[in-house]
Amino acid sequence: MTMDVAVLTIFPEMFERFWTHGIVRRAIEQGQLKGDAIDIRAYAEDRHKVTDDRPYGGGCGMVMKPEPLAKALRAARARMPEAVTLLMTPQGRPFSQQTAAELARRRGLIFICGRYEGVDERVAQRFVDAEISIGDYVLTGGELPAMVIVDAVVRLIPGVLGGQDSAAQDSFADGLLEHAHYTRPRVFEGRPVPDVLLSGNHAAIDQWRLEAALVRTFLKRPELLEDRVFSEQELAILRKWSKKLENLIKVQSACCTDPLSGHQ
Ligand code: SAM
Repeated sequence: MTMDVAVLTIFPEMFERFWTHGIVRRAIEQGQLKGDAIDIRAYAEDRHKVTDDRPYGGGCGMVMKPEPLAKALRAARARMPEAVTLLMTPQGRPFSQQTAAELARRRGLIFICGRYEGVDERVAQRFVDAEISIGDYVLTGGELPAMVIVDAVVRLIPGVLGGQDSAAQDSFADGLLEHAHYTRPRVFEGRPVPDVLLSGNHAAIDQWRLEAALVRTFLKRPELLEDRVFSEQELAILRKWSKKLENLIKVQSACCTDPLSGHQ
């Protein structure tokens, strides 16, 4: 199956390099992705190919006119009837790995890239299936968000990544951050690679990786663990830590109640 992607933009040239590098390029070459940047200006009917106008009600900035966008969208939808239409906007649903996985199951994606103050609201109401934000900050246009989303989605299309499991083990795929990675040399500026990774013992390596993923997630993004349903193996690791912590606390309390220790 080929995923069809159409990006509606007034800067289609921004995508020329995007389609021709890395995994995106490979997916296109392998026939798993078809990428097209569509120039909204080509659908403007006036002589000057105008795509924006002043906002009703006054104020600064310009707004993207609805007619060229509607025409460009209808043309894209006629070619891709199964596609979902996504509006790039900082007001949209926050993009996540889960959204990327949902989108990777679609046959086609049509992106609307805003510029200036954004697109006329009636375009959003009439044509858009989902509004998506890539984060709580405001960029000058929707082109980078569209690239971010295509990049995250394409690597989840079955068969696009070389190693079968590489996307499944990534951060967020199963709710944890991924464990640390090491490559040669064995010792870099005095810092060795953890012994277990050199042991050749695959069960021990898997156990280390799971524990390392749990530690990282706990330290860097503890909120990711809040609603997690832990596996038996994970619970065993947590119990082990809990024992270690209890012992530490015991040792500390013992030291603090010692009248000769000098501590309160
Ligand atoms: N006036 C708009 C607002 O305050 O919500 C912001 C418009 S922004 C300057 C121009 C365009 O950039 C938007 O229409 C949208 O397409 C894109 N954009 C900016 N930040 C974005 C974000 N965080 N996520 C997705 N798209 C964004």
